[in-house]
Amino acid sequence: MIYDLTTMTSPEAAEAMRSSRTVVIPVGSIEQHGPHLPNGTDTFAAELVAKGVADRLDAVYAPLGPYGVTPIHAGHPGTVNLRRETFEALLSDVCIELISFGIETVVLVNWHEGNIASMNAVATDLQDRYEVTFVAAQACYVAQRLYSAEGGELTHGGGIETLAVLAHDPTLVKVDRAGEPTRPPGAHEMDAMRRSHEVYGFITDVSELAVDGWYGNPLWATEERASDFVDVVADGVVELVHVVRSARSNH
Ligand SMILES: [Zn+2]
Repeated sequence: MIYDLTTMTSPEAAEAMRSSRTVVIPVGSIEQHGPHLPNGTDTFAAELVAKGVADRLDAVYAPLGPYGVTPIHAGHPGTVNLRRETFEALLSDVCIELISFGIETVVLVNWHEGNIASMNAVATDLQDRYEVTFVAAQACYVAQRLYSAEGGELTHGGGIETLAVLAHDPTLVKVDRAGEPTRPPGAHEMDAMRRSHEVYGFITDVSELAVDGWYGNPLWATEERASDFVDVVADGVVELVHVVRSARSNH
């Protein structure tokens, strides 16, 4: 069951926070996703999965706001980029308020790589200052792992992101407008490096990865596949939340 902070009354929220002690917060981004997907793709994906996670954990669901840290898409129409300081202040304030009502576990469900450094900084800081356990779940990477066996790829505007939007609202997917993406020289290498643990190269603009701002294969996503997107990814995230919780409870 989801206890949605925005629709509960104050006494209901007090009771839900007391009984659950857990809050799930979606973290996304509003940014260009090529000619075929909406700018809110990452936020829609984060909210869908976060609601599925809250439901499975009988947790409070608290929205953060749709924007994220996305300098590599800044300036491309449709993108709204938050400064890291703004995002970190917003996330900190929301978490601190919820912790003050007795929340003991904060689960961040993220679908945008540009938010990761800031999320981790806030989580590290607040877990140090308060009696709270943070779990920063990268739902996009969980989806990548779970769909890779059937050919799903996590790329900007590709198969797995198209799948997420189909699960949210199929009328927002316009694959007939996609065309063929063009990758500049070095794009594959930079992309592989972004996902590795050994070295990290920093991309300034999305055009370093893809000339038209997106790449991948949106045709991989089908409505049939999208029908259990939330179940697949939310189950995957919840499994990892339990790993963190039981590891920390042994301390
Ligand atoms: Zn995206």
